[in-house]
Amino acid sequence: MFADSVRRFAESTLAAGAVARAHASEFPAEVVERLVAMGLIGITIAEEDGGIGGTLSDAIVAIQEVALACPRSADVVQAGNFGAIRTFAEYASPALKARFLPELLAGRSIMAVGMTEPDAGSAVTELRTAARPDGDGFRLSGSKVFGTHSGHADLFLVYCRFGPGVGGIGSVVLERGAEGFEIGPPSTFMNGEQWCPLYFDDVHVPRERVLLGPGGFKKQIAGFNVERLGNAARAVAVGRHAFNVAREHALARHQFGRPLCEFQGLQWKFADMAMRLDGAQLLLMRAAANADRGGLPSAYDTAVAKLACNLAGFEAANESLQVMGALGFDEQSIVEYCVRRTRGWMIAGGSLEMLRNRIAEEIFERKFSQRAEPPAQ
Ligand SMILES: Cc1cc2nc3c(=O)[nH]c(=O)nc-3n(C[C@H](O)[C@H](O)[C@H](O)COP(=O)(O)OP(=O)(O)OC[C@H]3O[C@@H](n4cnc5c(N)ncnc54)[C@H](O)[C@@H]3O)c2cc1C
Repeated sequence: MFADSVRRFAESTLAAGAVARAHASEFPAEVVERLVAMGLIGITIAEEDGGIGGTLSDAIVAIQEVALACPRSADVVQAGNFGAIRTFAEYASPALKARFLPELLAGRSIMAVGMTEPDAGSAVTELRTAARPDGDGFRLSGSKVFGTHSGHADLFLVYCRFGPGVGGIGSVVLERGAEGFEIGPPSTFMNGEQWCPLYFDDVHVPRERVLLGPGGFKKQIAGFNVERLGNAARAVAVGRHAFNVAREHALARHQFGRPLCEFQGLQWKFADMAMRLDGAQLLLMRAAANADRGGLPSAYDTAVAKLACNLAGFEAANESLQVMGALGFDEQSIVEYCVRRTRGWMIAGGSLEMLRNRIAEEIFERKFSQRAEPPAQ
């Protein structure tokens, strides 16, 4: 029933502008109010914190139904349920939540994640941004790159180092405009999204703005697994969006005097796409359902689901483009956007290779250090 009601809402109010939104670089702020009014922001946030108090599975239903009608609008559902907001709501103090959650839940504010640094991508634990004790707070120095929403966010959840090693990593909440916090010029990803480098030059961080202190890295990543499932959910839904467009095309377009759908070479493409999308969807729902029994999604469930969804989503979008020929390759079709969009998720939030590394550790029940051995003395 929930899926039906989100579908009806999305088809009637979001589908018409989907192609235009896909090709606009700005965040689709005009749909925020409608999504808030429909109860699609804060689904995963507890009622006592001002959220809807729903499950992760509910949020996945919502983001996917929105993406099936308008892929770009699903980014608003991501920011309001799966992104930094979810980690923040999990770990912030009551005072910090009272200060920032109302605006985030009303869709008037967005929180970006500052994790990746120029020299710490997949090797995120090598991050250098440092929080140095200073009076009753800290001074933050360093820089971040590639952050989604970094150009327009009001708040930033910044991973930083309070001390050496993985145990020294935690996070702080920063507001745009803080003294010494500079947001650099925008750069554009292949998917059309813009990101800005972030520079911290001795930015004062009051102690109460620390989200997770030293030793917080594991908790931070556990919260980040929700973000990864939002990424996976959109990947599979955006792949299916392209599949649905290509299916209509294959029914309507004639070549050699017959509809495209009568060519077996194309039928098999659709069969393979359907199998991969359905399989990935089941893995995604397993990860969400297991988390709904209490807690955050497990690392293994998340890695397997994200790997399957990223691959299935990209392959479906790419094959759908092929089925549509030049029309699929042209900007007037949303399918080319679906290809560019699903491609980015194979890198963002843990690349396909890093997910495979994580899955292998679970299979062999041991850690495989990726670090170079120190040179022999
Ligand atoms: C669309 C998009 C949105 C993003 N949003 C954010 C965001 O909101 N906040 C944020 O902080 N960051 C964000 N990122 C950055 C993202 O987290 C990093 O791009 C990602 O972690 C990979 O780091 P890197 O790009 O530096 O690649 P690198 O780490 O340099 O890796 C390069 C290649 O080597 C492979 N590789 C590296 N190490 C290994 C290994 N041990 N085994 C096998 N292969 C390996 C990688 O898989 C990759 O293919 C975003 C990126 C994209 C593309």
